[in-house]
Amino acid sequence: VTDLVERLAVIVGPSNVLVGDDIPEELTHDEALTASPQVPAAVVRPDSAAEVAAVVALAAELGLAVTARGSGTGLSGACVPSPGGLLVSFERMAAILELDLDNHVAVVQPGVTLDQLDEATAEVGLVYPVFPGESSASLGGNVATNAGGMRAIKYGVTRHQVLGLEAVTGTGEIIRTGGRFVKSSNAYDLTQLIVGSEGTLALVTEATLRLYPRPPHVATVLAPFATLAAATGATPAIVGQGIGPLLVEYIDGLAMGGIVAHAGLDLGVAVAVREQAQAYLVVVIEQRRQDRLAEDVEELAVLLAELGALDVYVLPDHAGTQLIEAREKAFWAAKAAGADDIVDVVVPRSAMAAYITRVNAMASATASLITGCGHVGDGNVHLSVFQPDPEVRHGLVHDMIVAGVAMGGAVSGEHGLGIEKREIFLELADPAQLVLMRQIKVAFDPAGILNPEVAR
Ligand SMILES: Cc1cc2nc3c(=O)[nH]c(=O)nc-3n(C[C@H](O)[C@H](O)[C@H](O)COP(=O)(O)OP(=O)(O)OC[C@H]3O[C@@H](n4cnc5c(N)ncnc54)[C@H](O)[C@@H]3O)c2cc1C
Repeated sequence: VTDLVERLAVIVGPSNVLVGDDIPEELTHDEALTASPQVPAAVVRPDSAAEVAAVVALAAELGLAVTARGSGTGLSGACVPSPGGLLVSFERMAAILELDLDNHVAVVQPGVTLDQLDEATAEVGLVYPVFPGESSASLGGNVATNAGGMRAIKYGVTRHQVLGLEAVTGTGEIIRTGGRFVKSSNAYDLTQLIVGSEGTLALVTEATLRLYPRPPHVATVLAPFATLAAATGATPAIVGQGIGPLLVEYIDGLAMGGIVAHAGLDLGVAVAVREQAQAYLVVVIEQRRQDRLAEDVEELAVLLAELGALDVYVLPDHAGTQLIEAREKAFWAAKAAGADDIVDVVVPRSAMAAYITRVNAMASATASLITGCGHVGDGNVHLSVFQPDPEVRHGLVHDMIVAGVAMGGAVSGEHGLGIEKREIFLELADPAQLVLMRQIKVAFDPAGILNPEVAR
């Protein structure tokens, strides 16, 4: 270990190699509910692509695992270090290198947080539109998980915003992909292979991201429904209406109770309506002009009433903002309530109502509580599973995922596979595709050192 520490110290400086008791506890895990913390042999904090490349080359020479870490807000255990391996923390690579106002791009180092980028882009009237619920998350982590969040229904997910990358492969080579252009027809797209690869193909050292004008006018519409199926079933018509909502979220009655209590909110929903409401839709619209926004809100309210909403509330600006912020913190409310696991299956949006009905039947059959919310516009549930018996819970979560995949969905909509969902992914994946994926892994990382806990 002394030899390793000395060699790492030559690369990044002695104060940027942490071992033993100097490794903070928070670097041993992320926010996943079921993954166990692990202590790496060393934490390394590089401050340039050249340093990252030298660290990876050394790890390849010594056959050491390398796990990248952004802010550790992941929900699948994907940045949990390998025991005996290296954890590369990007906290010192946190500069916004450029806001290019003509090409509408931001060039960022991976440790930049969503908050940091939002503040900088707001100053120039632009926005980086991917808002996964935790704004302390890093852009490197967002790229590696292909983060989604509430605004995907309008802008797409991280994948759709990444125009280019600088990254270090498993051999310690620095590659640059893409550029400041929104299209290319230029052989295989390595940028998109790296996006969502959870640190298993390359370590991202710089990202070129797409920016958009920031619309100044925003309205939040809240619609309670008598049943969850009615709320989720309304979504295709809302998307089909063509007003282009910024987000379409559903929150079930129980989760809404938890969110509202956790944040101390009063949304002004009449008691009689609240008593009947088993689910809520939250639709946010943004516009460049106030008069157009008012028109959109009016049309949306009429449609929601036609679709069976018990009532329609256009929330005052501050209440709308508070509700969205509270919804972003739904995970913390669920965790505080003792949730044992979180499932983020995605299904076609038209299958949401049937999927949730199916899940509710599974909850009854196993005497479990399943409650939650989700990006219903994208068919992406975020369900908290309360079932203290680990064996029953394991079977239940397995069956919930299998049911989603059988309806044409996927294991994870946005949290990633990490170490939590790796096994079930392998169980359900097409063997021919797995062969191709393993060949891609070998091409980027021949020694298999990059995040081996996730890519086995
Ligand atoms: C309250 C809460 C709400 C959330 N809501 C959402 C949501 O709505 N949508 C959503 O998508 N996610 C959500 N998340 C999950 C999480 O915020 C995202 O997964 C985020 O992208 C993780 O970023 P991070 O910087 O914390 O990454 P980490 O947790 O540090 O790492 C995640 C993965 O990225 C890899 N990685 C990190 N940096 C790099 C790099 N530079 N190069 C290569 N690989 C790297 C890690 O190895 C790991 O595989 C939520 C989390 C919380 C706690």
